[in-house]
Amino acid sequence: MKKIILITGGSRGIGAAVAHLAAEQGYAVCISYLHNQAAADAVVAAIRLKNGEAMAVQADVALEDDIVRLFKQVDAAFGPLTALVNNAGVLAGQARVDEMDSARIQRIFATNVIGSFICAREAVRRMSTRYGGTGGAIVNLSSRASRLGSPGEYVDYAASKAAIDTLSIGLSKEVAAEGIRVNTVSPGIIYTDIHASGGEPQRVDRVKETIPMKRGGYPEEVARAVLWLLSDEASYTTGTTLDVAGGR
Ligand code: NAP
Repeated sequence: MKKIILITGGSRGIGAAVAHLAAEQGYAVCISYLHNQAAADAVVAAIRLKNGEAMAVQADVALEDDIVRLFKQVDAAFGPLTALVNNAGVLAGQARVDEMDSARIQRIFATNVIGSFICAREAVRRMSTRYGGTGGAIVNLSSRASRLGSPGEYVDYAASKAAIDTLSIGLSKEVAAEGIRVNTVSPGIIYTDIHASGGEPQRVDRVKETIPMKRGGYPEEVARAVLWLLSDEASYTTGTTLDVAGGR
């Protein structure tokens, strides 16, 4: 069966690393992105250079209509989806809760939580035996922040990732008998651009001494966990969380 994967937010960081590894493992790859078309095109070009199949679609996961269009474009280009990685995620500038306004919190939750729910809905409608599908696998990107809370930095982001943890637990039970496995990867502190969007590009190096392994992680190390959970090697694994965090 043709392996077809959609990775939201696949233009940069962890999503791009998942895209490259998925292509190496024989998936036809669709990545979505928000604004950075040049980065998305570069991921697609690199995959095609190695004779892989790839496409990029601009779609804001905070907008339901964009998600519906994104999934239809995957259907049309590649056929029925077999894997979804709910990777697109954002944080905002470091702040205390008493400094946050509702627009900021709504943006975080619209992207990280509601976007993941609606993508999961579209994937289940295609994969579930209940809808005539042949099964599939979903990996949701959470964060160690969901259990640490990120005080003084972004409690809103941490809380959005706690919602992802619970989405994974509940959805995994709903669809376990319908051929779909749902798991969570919970990265620690990984070298990507996300820390710059929080206002501190060097954050990984500032906090790395607090990590048992004394270093930040690399997107490729997260990608390997994601691809394992999607693979048949993880055929009896659902509803679980895999920490990729250099220790607890
Ligand atoms: P990143 O480097 O900032 O990349 C974010 C990606 O998401 C980009 O491809 C971006 O597209 C896309 N994106 C952002 N908002 C979007 C939206 N509304 N709709 C569609 N795509 C959107 O992030 P990252 O560090 O790789 O993080 C990936 C995931 O891992 C996130 O869920 C994050 O919370 C989680 N995570 C990261 C870390 C870490 O330390 N890096 C730790 C724990 C968890 P554009 O390129 O177009 O902007």
